[in-house]
Amino acid sequence: MAERPIVIYGDPVLREVTQPVGEIDREVKDLVSDMVDTLKSARGLGLAASQVGAAKRLFIVDLTAIDVNGSLKVFINPEIVETEGEIEMEEGCLSFPDMYLKITRPERVKVRATDLDGNRFEMSADGVSARAILHEYDHTQGKLFVDYLSPLARTLIRGRLRKLAAAS
Ligand code: ZN
Repeated sequence: MAERPIVIYGDPVLREVTQPVGEIDREVKDLVSDMVDTLKSARGLGLAASQVGAAKRLFIVDLTAIDVNGSLKVFINPEIVETEGEIEMEEGCLSFPDMYLKITRPERVKVRATDLDGNRFEMSADGVSARAILHEYDHTQGKLFVDYLSPLARTLIRGRLRKLAAAS
């Protein structure tokens, strides 16, 4: 398997509402396998399919990066079942190199998704895991973390965003 190039802000695929995954066939498995290689090499916490240019409804989160007991999880056709609380945390995104922003999101999340074997599962998460799941889920909806900024905060990074978009 192989790494795929990570799509940078400005590429229209990041704004696409992704297509639900049908059968988990060879193509989907290859995509996930490449995403795992890509995420590990980028030392990231999570990666959505649209970030490697595939507008499919799936993402991966690698909790081994923050917790030795963590695991790498695949979320196919994810749905947010419920959220609770609100917390501000610093966030980054592999599609926005070197940009870390304080973003307010729910503190806890319950998510439902299908794994690579085709089994539907439900998972509750808090802390960094919840943050990663909510961030990656947004990617499947064409939503990006900068969308949560206040108009003022957005104005402050406008120049950096323009530079990213111009380079992509
Ligand atoms: Zn992201």
